[in-house]
Amino acid sequence: MAKIIDGKAIAAKMRTEIAAGVLELKQKGITPGLAVVLVGDDPASRVYVSMKEKACAEAGIFSDEYKLPAETAEAELLALVERLNNDPAIHGILVQLPLPPQIDTEKVLEAISPLKDADGFHPYNVGRLAVGKPLFQPCTPYGVMVMLKEEGIDLAGKEVVVIGRSNIVGKPVAMMCLAQNATVTVCHSRTRDLAGVVRRADVVIAAVGRPEMVKGEWIKEGAVVIDVGVNRVGEKKLVGDVEFSSASERAAAITPVPGGVGPMTITMLLYNTLESARRSAEIS
Ligand code: NDP
Repeated sequence: MAKIIDGKAIAAKMRTEIAAGVLELKQKGITPGLAVVLVGDDPASRVYVSMKEKACAEAGIFSDEYKLPAETAEAELLALVERLNNDPAIHGILVQLPLPPQIDTEKVLEAISPLKDADGFHPYNVGRLAVGKPLFQPCTPYGVMVMLKEEGIDLAGKEVVVIGRSNIVGKPVAMMCLAQNATVTVCHSRTRDLAGVVRRADVVIAAVGRPEMVKGEWIKEGAVVIDVGVNRVGEKKLVGDVEFSSASERAAAITPVPGGVGPMTITMLLYNTLESARRSAEIS
């Protein structure tokens, strides 16, 4: 049976370290600050935003919250972003997605200063990651890399198969694995023989959004399985993209859903904010 990779425990340990780092910076007169901008009242976004605020408070990070109505004009949001770009108390800016249809998401993400881009979605930061000189790294894939490191899984020379090529998970995690000297294959909806590709993987990273689509029998004996997917089935149950019970009979280690990658995402947001505040302390 596979070892269960405990994301909650790894996240808790890291959050303790972050809180200590925040305290150290506060003693030097700098309080790390994160601005969280929510436009509209999407229920899932509201839950994420309140989780982020709570996590900031627990870590001692100042969080400044902007809740704007759904009909907010693009120009108004851009003006707020510009104000936050110039606010020295703010080291990280997060605009919660999705945005309402009248607002051009790319335009807003590009308006965020790349030096305060806590989500790591600005094309500048995507480029920095691509050339192997990362500044802000996107939180979910960054969390995956921290988990692998904490578990002592060295990727050098390993066959990593990433399923999904989104800008927020699949592509960046593939770049991060490449930077760790893995041989990386990225699969997507047009991939032929997905099962065959997954069968040769030493490490499988699934980020698709389809409940249990990766079958246990596809997993090579002794592989590591990282399941990023979060899928609601029925009223309350959450499952990942991987068929957990059958995959855990073959894998050496596997992340559960919930309690795997999920808790790492907000942790890395806190980490990115702290690192940004540290950088600002060095230059001011
Ligand atoms: P997207 O919908 O943006 O991307 C899904 C990817 O899966 C696409 O690249 C798509 O391919 C690919 N795909 C779809 N169907 C198949 C298929 N049959 N075979 C192979 N590939 C397929 O999703 P995200 O990357 O945003 O999220 C992925 C999952 O991760 C979701 O469940 C989401 O909820 C979860 N997630 C979890 C987070 C966490 O904190 N734990 C954070 C972010 C996401 P194509 O490009 O060809 O369409």
